[in-house]
Amino acid sequence: NLSVKFPMARSRMGLGPRRSLNAVSDVSMRVAAGETVGLVGESGSGKSTFGRAILRLGELTRGEVLLDGQDMARARGEDLARLRRETAMIFQDPYGSLNPRLTVRQAIGEVLHVHGKKGAAGRDARIVELLELVGLDATLMDRRPGDLSGGQCQRIGIARALAIEPRLIVADECVAALDVSIQGQIINLLMELGQRMHLGMIFIAHDLAMVRRLCDRIAVMYLGRIVEEGPTEQVFKAPRHPYTRSLIEAIPEIDPARMLPSAPLPGEPPSPVNLPEGCAFHPRCPLARSECRTAVPPFVGGAHRAACILAPGGRLNEVGENLPET
Ligand code: SF4
Ligand code: MG
Repeated sequence: NLSVKFPMARSRMGLGPRRSLNAVSDVSMRVAAGETVGLVGESGSGKSTFGRAILRLGELTRGEVLLDGQDMARARGEDLARLRRETAMIFQDPYGSLNPRLTVRQAIGEVLHVHGKKGAAGRDARIVELLELVGLDATLMDRRPGDLSGGQCQRIGIARALAIEPRLIVADECVAALDVSIQGQIINLLMELGQRMHLGMIFIAHDLAMVRRLCDRIAVMYLGRIVEEGPTEQVFKAPRHPYTRSLIEAIPEIDPARMLPSAPLPGEPPSPVNLPEGCAFHPRCPLARSECRTAVPPFVGGAHRAACILAPGGRLNEVGENLPET
């Protein structure tokens, strides 16, 4: 039940109530060891804010982050430091996330040092081990980011994340800045490492085809809420929320007969400052009906859930009306 609100500046007159932006509203997610959950949605949907709040890299207003029952959101001091060692983030920009002045040895060594993982003696050997784990070798030890390719930098970023032997990783658009050919390699690497090291992973991405390949489950975020969640193939084959459907329909097809993009979703997402009443998706929803403007749809359906009155278990579905076939 995580929420993140950002206070907004008052109007110039200083009048009226103080407003806030609801970046993440009451979002719940469970990630098992060895499981990868894809988090998708348009930019501004709150994905990154949610990922950062989980790892305490950003503020969170309300909610718990339980790691084996221990609340990371409320931990302080030594407890927080210990919990932090169980989690890591992989960032989007492979160059920007590394200090350009540090060599590979220093960049990875720094993480080992800060988290007290190795004394100076064992450190070099551990760095070589980590480099090999991410498909690089010891010859890069004394290079700096400027001497490396984007793909190599991202592998160093992953090695840094793995250096603390985390159990949960949040990867935020971690291949978006790379060439398409390199993206596949990094995804394969993450899949392999995730399984081998039994990592829980939250994979934040725009690219639904990639999420389909990598993730066991998928969660779809719209305006700070999860509107659909379920096993990846179920969600792709039979999406239950019209928003998910529009995202899936917008995936470019390889089949040349279908090269024309399908009808894009009309309009921009509304501002998270003034969320629409009822179902927040109603101004853009092709299936909206009058009651969608007033009634907030419940998030229901068991392992494959959706927040839409037309979805199984949704209000209208109970009286026998079904979501039309795709
Ligand atoms: Fe569309 Fe209504 Fe379902 Fe919201 S509740 S997604 S507006 S049909
Ligand atoms: Mg983002």
